[in-house]
Amino acid sequence: MPDATETMQEEITRIAARPEVRSANAWLRAQEPQIAAWQLELARIAAPPFGEGPRGEWLRDRFFELGLQDVRTDDAGNVLGQFPGVGDRHIAVSAHIDTVFPAGTPLNIRQQGSRLYGPGVSDNGAGVAALLAVAAAIRAANIPHSLPILFIGNVGEEGEGDLRGMRHIFSAGGKDSILYSVVLDGAGSDTIVAEALGSRRFEVIVRGPGGHSWSDFGAPNPILVLARAIQGFAQTPVSAAPKTTFNVGVIRGGTSVNSIPESASMRVDIRSTSMGEMERLEAALRLALDRGMEEETRAVEKRTPTQRRPCGLSSEIVPIGNRPAGELAPNAHILQVIRAVDAHLGNAAQIHRASTDANVPLSLGREAIALGGGGAGGGAHTLQEWFDCIGRELGLRRVLLTTLALAGVG
Ligand SMILES: [Zn+2]
Repeated sequence: MPDATETMQEEITRIAARPEVRSANAWLRAQEPQIAAWQLELARIAAPPFGEGPRGEWLRDRFFELGLQDVRTDDAGNVLGQFPGVGDRHIAVSAHIDTVFPAGTPLNIRQQGSRLYGPGVSDNGAGVAALLAVAAAIRAANIPHSLPILFIGNVGEEGEGDLRGMRHIFSAGGKDSILYSVVLDGAGSDTIVAEALGSRRFEVIVRGPGGHSWSDFGAPNPILVLARAIQGFAQTPVSAAPKTTFNVGVIRGGTSVNSIPESASMRVDIRSTSMGEMERLEAALRLALDRGMEEETRAVEKRTPTQRRPCGLSSEIVPIGNRPAGELAPNAHILQVIRAVDAHLGNAAQIHRASTDANVPLSLGREAIALGGGGAGGGAHTLQEWFDCIGRELGLRRVLLTTLALAGVG
């Protein structure tokens, strides 16, 4: 009996050999100028976090043009459309439409030869262009597929967006109706993101009565509380596997060298692929802050009566980011599919751990991967961002075959 890997490889070979799939590949090759034109057009529409509306409208128009059905914009601003199939469980192919660039960023989007330049042209111009290209190729070649394929341009992947677009989709019924998710993010064909790097971010704020450094000496000092808390928190052991990290990235507080500060704050970042490890570190942070408060209060109480001041310390921990963690089981179906697709295409790809829209389904125990939209890119999150169209076809064929294998063909 052939093993599962062999069977999967044969299935990919069978799908790739179908005349409709060959014709879709020819479409992808011939239409590169159209794909690049979409990419330039969308990158010219600003899409800052929480300001994705105009780009979403542009995408909705493209979805209509491509003949997607049930085209709609949901309450979060995600744009959805589908090619219907059998049953009510879907394959989702998604690309985030937001960028990291704030409103007003000069978008000097331009093309020189095979290269496209400008903020967001690759992250996620490459992903959205791949989303459109794959939908257009399926439509142009009229490929029959079993499960419905849901195309999504989602909001809120970057920074303070905190994955809100995908969270909305997976809280509003997507958890049950989406069987597999393929997330298209950035350029390239050489990675498979199968591990969702989670993060929790906090602003820790300590407040006190403040005062004059000389005449109010003895009053509790919020900066000293933070120093004590950091000292305690930094002792927390972290595991190497699953890899877990922490960082105190920003510290603020005080008004002048001769004032006891009225407040001090710090920003803390905790990351892991394990939800459990992130929870453990969050608990350690809370404990370290409580101890820092207690120690500073005790230090104040120990001062001589003439130095003693009412304590009046308070603290809070405000969450400023929360991305869930998760990873695929090594024998996950979606991993078998992408590995067989890569073998078929002679493409060498590595499993990566990253924070993408795939975090949401992965944290819910659903099968999901994130792939690049082909070609090459660099300078992500800078004004010097670029994308090179050379080699895009391989990436698009990879996404197409993966999507079709997940949906079932014939
Ligand atoms: Zn991205």
